[in-house]
Amino acid sequence: MSARFLSRMAPVVKHFDFLVIGGGSGGLACARRAAEFGVKAAIVEHGRLGGTCVNVGCVPKKIMFNTAVHAEYIHDHKDYGFDVEYKNFDWSVIKKTRDDYIKRLNGIYQRNLDGSKVETILGDAKFTEGNCVEVEGQKYSAEHILIATGGRPTPVNIPGAEHGIDSDGFFELESLPKKTVVVGAGYIAVELAGILKTLGSDVSLMIRYDKVLRNFDDMISTAVTDELENIGVNLLRRTQTQSVTKDANSGLMTLETNSGTIPDVSCLLWAIGRVPNAEIGLDEVGVELDGKGNIKVDEFQNTSAKNIYALGDVCGKALLTPVAIAAGRKLAHRLFDNKPTWRLDYENIPTVVFSHPPVGTIGMTEAEAAAKYGAENLKIYKSSFTPMYYAVTERKVKCHMKLICALPEEKVVGLHMIGQGCDEMLQGFSVAIKMGATKKDFDSAVAIHPTSSEELVTMR
Ligand SMILES: Cc1cc2nc3c(=O)[nH]c(=O)nc-3n(C[C@H](O)[C@H](O)[C@H](O)COP(=O)(O)OP(=O)(O)OC[C@H]3O[C@@H](n4cnc5c(N)ncnc54)[C@H](O)[C@@H]3O)c2cc1C
Repeated sequence: MSARFLSRMAPVVKHFDFLVIGGGSGGLACARRAAEFGVKAAIVEHGRLGGTCVNVGCVPKKIMFNTAVHAEYIHDHKDYGFDVEYKNFDWSVIKKTRDDYIKRLNGIYQRNLDGSKVETILGDAKFTEGNCVEVEGQKYSAEHILIATGGRPTPVNIPGAEHGIDSDGFFELESLPKKTVVVGAGYIAVELAGILKTLGSDVSLMIRYDKVLRNFDDMISTAVTDELENIGVNLLRRTQTQSVTKDANSGLMTLETNSGTIPDVSCLLWAIGRVPNAEIGLDEVGVELDGKGNIKVDEFQNTSAKNIYALGDVCGKALLTPVAIAAGRKLAHRLFDNKPTWRLDYENIPTVVFSHPPVGTIGMTEAEAAAKYGAENLKIYKSSFTPMYYAVTERKVKCHMKLICALPEEKVVGLHMIGQGCDEMLQGFSVAIKMGATKKDFDSAVAIHPTSSEELVTMR
């Protein structure tokens, strides 16, 4: 008898109103909101509660970004009159406090689930048939099933690739690598390269084309590329690794690339993208995937199978924690709170890149806006300046801002900025843009002085 037949024959051990596969950002938010409406809900998780964001994503990354910001500011201390010398950075201190913090978060997430009366099922979930999921040999059924299984780093398939690490491995590093090669041009590559360089590693960033963040507005892509070089990251443009070897004695790697050999690499970090975790028996239940292996959903997070939904990174769209959370909460209201039209609006999602300095962006890039409205129907406002923080410092880092406005009423359809504090500036402006603000609305706000954000309401 086949394994498939046997699992179909196995009895159901428990039935739920709502079963969520994946205890990450989206799954947790959706299950807990559903439970508020008296729904009997459960979450299946095969790793640590909190998913990518808490364990190997946003949270530990932001702690490392903050660590790197300290290293940046130490260079300015003397200009502000402080006699502080940067002698030594001990990676193990922040690694321990960071890991302890995350362990505390894992515990908080478990207590929150328990408090919300959402049952936790530990193990690897796979669909067996229709409304049934098998976890570690036990079968569970549910009226409604949500897939929120997230994604993982894209594996690399060249000889010796296994000697490198991915972003998950970055958070396991026990010390600051002496010489690092980061491969990739997306935000994760940019952020991790920036952190490592700022903390003192000798970092090369290997990219396939000429610039990083190529799907961002050109101003951002250019500025982030320039700033990486300004802080001393060695940009290896139009370069691809062909093979990797590792010396068993020294532990150092040698990379053969299309433009030469890179010797003595202590850390090779692959950050070339993410793939969805969709190998959960979806063919058993008729859930369709797109060409990239992401789960296909409609605007209400319905998959192609009845009463099976998907959201978050496994759907491959706007891979961000607040997107997964918001989609999850809307879905819970739609299914269990009689709000049949509720869904997440995926337009105008604000995004921050924790580069050095950080990027904040929302809406269309100039190229996208030109394609939609025609370049002649746009008015672009730009500003480049040195924030006042650097008025007295030797180190100067510029801020660049751009507003893209659609004529005739000059509706703000894109806002892009890079500079100190832009990460914290964006959220408030995102409210205005989501409400459909025009340049006139921006101008009618009184500036806050002296700040960098005042520039956004005084552009001419
Ligand atoms: C390095 C890095 C930095 C990031 N920084 C940011 C940031 O600054 N801001 C931001 O908004 N986003 C950031 N992200 C993205 C963010 O982490 C994700 O968008 C978010 O976690 C997606 O949530 P999710 O619920 O879809 O999936 P996840 O959070 O990945 O959760 C999926 C869960 O499902 C579990 N699972 C998978 N398969 C199964 C199975 N078969 N059975 C049981 N359990 C299963 C996994 O173990 C995981 O816990 C970052 C990501 C990375 C990798």
